[in-house]
Amino acid sequence: MVKMIKRVLILLLIPFISFSQNTDDLFSERGEVYFSFQYENRNQLNKISDIVSIDHKTTDKIAYAYANKKELSEFTKLDIEYTIIKKEPLNFTHVSKNNWNYYPTYQEYIDMMTSFADSFPDICKIHHLGTLNSGREIVIVQISDNVGQKENEPSFLYTSSMHGDELAGYILSLRLIDYILNGYDNNARLTDLVNNIDIWINPLANPDGAYFGGNQDVWSATRYNSNWVDLNRNYPDPEDGPHPDGNPYQEETNIFLGLADSINFSIAANMHGGSEVCNYPWDTWSTLAADDNWWKHVSTEYADSCQVNSGSGYFNDLNDGITNGWDWYEVDGGRQDYMNYFRYCREFTLELSNDKTPNPNDLPELWDANYPSLLNYIEQSLFGLRGIVTDSITGDPLKVKVEILSHDIDSSHVYSNMPIGNYHRYLHQGNYNVTFSKSGYHSKTINASVLNNITTIENVQLVPLNFVGLENKNVHQKIINSIDLLGRKIKYKTKTPLIDIFDDGTVEKRIILE
Ligand SMILES: [Zn+2]
Repeated sequence: MVKMIKRVLILLLIPFISFSQNTDDLFSERGEVYFSFQYENRNQLNKISDIVSIDHKTTDKIAYAYANKKELSEFTKLDIEYTIIKKEPLNFTHVSKNNWNYYPTYQEYIDMMTSFADSFPDICKIHHLGTLNSGREIVIVQISDNVGQKENEPSFLYTSSMHGDELAGYILSLRLIDYILNGYDNNARLTDLVNNIDIWINPLANPDGAYFGGNQDVWSATRYNSNWVDLNRNYPDPEDGPHPDGNPYQEETNIFLGLADSINFSIAANMHGGSEVCNYPWDTWSTLAADDNWWKHVSTEYADSCQVNSGSGYFNDLNDGITNGWDWYEVDGGRQDYMNYFRYCREFTLELSNDKTPNPNDLPELWDANYPSLLNYIEQSLFGLRGIVTDSITGDPLKVKVEILSHDIDSSHVYSNMPIGNYHRYLHQGNYNVTFSKSGYHSKTINASVLNNITTIENVQLVPLNFVGLENKNVHQKIINSIDLLGRKIKYKTKTPLIDIFDDGTVEKRIILE
């Protein structure tokens, strides 16, 4: 008996020992490994996606993935053959800061962000969102006329490089900030965008990953953060709930959860790399978004403009540069789905370059290809249906639910924002019956015609439930009183204008003709 137990133990120990010996070597320099494997079908890939971090390079046959030590040990239990892809530090040389074929040092990055705000104080503010344990900061600039003041404007967000080694968007974001600020007051389109939109740009969402090799350069960047967690699997998930990856929310995640809590972003994009494609919701399930046709429209607009402004072969992965997220591969705990489902913000994911960290010499070409698309997408924030919702009596702005009853699913409704009462609903062209509702008020449904790339404005007043006024002619039921125009109880004379008061508090003018 004792012998048998020993034998079983040895059998159990052998794979474990060989795995741990291997892994000690594998993880000696960094806490993540990159590997590829063949998969059999989508079902299998979706299951594996719960264990390791499937990468954007994944095709319909070969998957690429990242894993920390714990994740890889789970993966090896599946007994799937895999190939480790060793990551050597990149060996590029910087060219010139002035030509933007250059990755700044960490300190140069912080200095650039600070100097944007210092040089354009009227239209640009820097916000220090948080300092990580490492001492590195997550910073964002806000660009608008009357910057920092709430206005009837959509809030727009670009954020890049939550995967620390996907760095094309890091430089494109910095250059975009520079381009917009310098274009203000001398380029009509840029001036319009700044005057009408509250623009937020965060070039680097995972500075510990990007500068893993030290603050001097990004040549040893990692995908994960310094705790070896994939930040794009670390958000609350519409299907899987909180902590879908089993990890606590990371400092970086908490910073962006806090930002999304305090700014009601209407529309956003999240920049990544490893592929060249727009990835639109959802990532977590196969159900299409309520506004799937709008997503296809803006994604196609992004991809087409990239193709026109580049040499051939750029930004045409998957369906000619666009893909539904789940169709490509399932992601749970991603930021895109979090923003759409929980924050009512339209966010898609931009995969900007096949090379995760492009040669600095390629950055100017990537800029030429992308900046018209980046501006078009910012401008999309002005289109669709928008307006201000107020109390019909006091004129005070209201936070109300804006919903299209036969159309909305999976949290696709939006809310108007305080303190202005402005709402922004992005829709593919068509006619929509839009319902505005708030407790304590009569709901109101309007029919709105929306055209692509055009703004439709519908300002809406909601009548308080307890108000007696000349509103809401169609919803009342029973007359409880009738008065004449001076407010006296009516003596039923013919041909006298009178006012009926209904049991729901609404009133209607009437003339008795007998
Ligand atoms: Zn990524």
